[in-house]
Amino acid sequence: MTNKKANNKRKRNNSNKKYSGNYVRKNQAAKDCTYQEGITVKELAEKINKSPADIIKFLFMLGKMYTVNTSLDDETIELIALEYNINITKEETEDSDSLEDDIVDNPEDLEARAPIVTIMGHVDHGKTTLLDFIRKTNVTAGEFGGITQHIGAYQTNVHGQKVTFLDTPGHEAFTAMRSRGAKMTDIVVVIVAADDGVMPQTKEAIDHARAADVPIIIAINKIDKHNANVDKVYNELADYGLIPEEWGGDTMFTKISAKSGEGVQTLLEMILLLSEVLELKANPDKLATGTVVEAKLDRGRGPVATLLVQNGTLDSSDCLVVGTAFCRIRKMTDDKGKEIKTAKPSTPVEIIGLSDVPEAGDHFKVFADEKRARAVADRRTQAKLELERRTIGLSLDDIATRIKEGDLKQLDIIIKADVAGSAEAVQSSMEKLSNEEVKIRVLRAAAGGITESDIMLATTSNAIIYGFNVRPNATVKRMAEDNNISIRLHNIIYKALEELESIMKGMLAPVYEEVVLGQATVRQLFKVSRIGTIAGCMVDDGIIKNNCGVRLIRNGVVIYTGKLGSLQRFKDNVREVKAGYECGLTIERYNDIKIDDIIEAFEDQEVTE
Ligand code: GDP
Ligand code: MG
Repeated sequence: MTNKKANNKRKRNNSNKKYSGNYVRKNQAAKDCTYQEGITVKELAEKINKSPADIIKFLFMLGKMYTVNTSLDDETIELIALEYNINITKEETEDSDSLEDDIVDNPEDLEARAPIVTIMGHVDHGKTTLLDFIRKTNVTAGEFGGITQHIGAYQTNVHGQKVTFLDTPGHEAFTAMRSRGAKMTDIVVVIVAADDGVMPQTKEAIDHARAADVPIIIAINKIDKHNANVDKVYNELADYGLIPEEWGGDTMFTKISAKSGEGVQTLLEMILLLSEVLELKANPDKLATGTVVEAKLDRGRGPVATLLVQNGTLDSSDCLVVGTAFCRIRKMTDDKGKEIKTAKPSTPVEIIGLSDVPEAGDHFKVFADEKRARAVADRRTQAKLELERRTIGLSLDDIATRIKEGDLKQLDIIIKADVAGSAEAVQSSMEKLSNEEVKIRVLRAAAGGITESDIMLATTSNAIIYGFNVRPNATVKRMAEDNNISIRLHNIIYKALEELESIMKGMLAPVYEEVVLGQATVRQLFKVSRIGTIAGCMVDDGIIKNNCGVRLIRNGVVIYTGKLGSLQRFKDNVREVKAGYECGLTIERYNDIKIDDIIEAFEDQEVTE
C-alpha cells in the first residue's frame, strides 16, 4: 500500500518537472512487439521505431561492434529492449525446420528394409571392380542398358532380397557426410588385396567404420593372384584388432576375386546374414526422409540429385526440402534409369525438379503441402546465409585452403603503412602477384595506424590486413580477433610478398611467427645518467617478458624496434610483468621515450602446424 502511494506521488511530481527525453521515455508504458530468430539491427530498429544508428551507438557503448545488417542474439535484444523500454518477445516458429526424421515410429508399423552397404579400402584393392561385378551379375538383361551411366547408389538382388550399395567417391566423402550428420551406411565392407595386405587406407577405412559404429565385413580380394598371401592379411588385420570367426574372433571374413567373381556370392550372403542380425527396419507408411548421395547440375535437366530414402515412402509427385532447396519432383527414376512412382526405405532414386543443387550428405524431407515446404526451404536458406555471413572472417589457413580448392578466386587486401609512399609501393607489388587462379584486389592502401574502420571493411569483404611499421591498439586487435580477421604485421616488404604468395598457392607454412606478448603504456619517465631513460609503465594487455623484443609505438606508428634492456618491479629485476601491474623498463640502446608511448613486447615463436 505504502509502496503504491509512493509511486503515485512520484509520478505526480514528475509531471510537474522537466526531464530529459530519456527519463520521460522510460516512464511511458512499455510497447509490445515480437521478433523472429535472426532479426538484424536494421529490422529491429524499424520494429521499435528507432534509428539503427542509435542502436549501433548504444551497442558500441556496451563494447559491441555491430553493423545494420548484423543479426542480434536474444541476449542483446533483451538489452536493447530494456534500454528503450520495450516489451519484446520472440516468435517461436510453429514447428521445427529440421529435416531429420523426427516422428517416432510405432514398432508395429516397421517393416524389414534392405541393408545399405559401403565398400571401402586402399586404392587399387578392387572397390570399383567389385561394385561393377555385383552390379552386372545381378541385373537382368533387359535392365542392362541403364547401368552404363554412373550413379552413386544402386540396389541389387540376392536370392530375391535387396541390398543397396553406396558408391562413395572416397573415405573423405564418407567422413564428410558423417560429419554433417548423415548416417547412411549399415555395413562397411573393407576390401583388402591379398597381394598387398593392410595399407594406410585400409586402416583408415577401418577407423572410419569404427568411428561411425558400423559393423565391418572383411573381403580379402585378388585371391586369384599367384602372389596372394591370405595368411599375411589375417595376421595384419589381427594386429589391428580384427579377428576372423575361424580364429575365434567376431569379425566376418571372406575371400573373393572381384575379377573372376569367385566368392562374391558368399560375400553377398554374408551381408544378408549380418543385416538380419542387425534387424534393419523402417516405416514405409509415412512421408519420406533421407539423405542426398550425390547431386549435380545437368545442362538439360537442371539440378539432379541421387537420394537415398531412409524412412517413409517417396512418391513421384511429392514436395520436399533438400538441404536448403525446395523441390516438387518432376521425375523420379530408379538406379537403372527407369521411371518409378514410389520408392520404399533403402531405395536410391534420382530426382529432378530441384530449385538448387544440394550437397552430398544433405538431408531431405517430404512435406504434406507445398506452401510449408517452400517456407521451410526459405527459412533454411536464410539461416544458411546468416551462418555464412557470421563466419565471413576467415583465418589465413582457411583462406589458403579455399584458394587451394579453387573456392576463392580473389583475395582482398587492406594495407596500412607509416607513410603513404610505402603503402603505395606495397599495393603495386601485391597487385602484381595476381595470377590466373587468384586475383589480388587492394581495397584500401593508406598511411596511418590500423583502425576499427579497417576491421569493419575487412569484415565485409573477407580481407587480410597488412600493416607496415604500424600496429593496431588493443581494442582494434580484440575486434579483429572477434571477427576472425587476420592482421599481418611486417617491416620488410619482400617478406610480406613471400607470405602472400604462399597463401595464394594454398600453402601456408611459416616456421616461425612473431607473437605479440603484450602492451604497456608509458606513464612516467626517469632519466638516470648511467642507465638512460627508464620508462615507468602500466601493462595494459598480455605480458612483458625480460629479454623480449620491443616496439615503441607513438600515435599508432612504430618509432623504434629493438630489444628490452631491463625489466623491473620496485627496483628488483623481474622475469615478467603481467597486465594490470606497473613496471619500470628500458629499451636497449634507445632513450627517446615519451609519456603515452606504447611499448609492445613480442617474441618469435615456432608455429606448430
Ligand atoms: P579401386 O581403386 O579399389 O577401385 O580398385 P580397382 O577396382 O580399380 O582395381 C584396381 C586394379 O586391380 C584393376 O586393374 C583391377 O582389374 C584389379 N583387380 C581388382 N580386383 C581384382 C581381382 O580380384 N583379381 C585380380 N587379379 N585383379 C583385380
Ligand atoms: Mg576405384
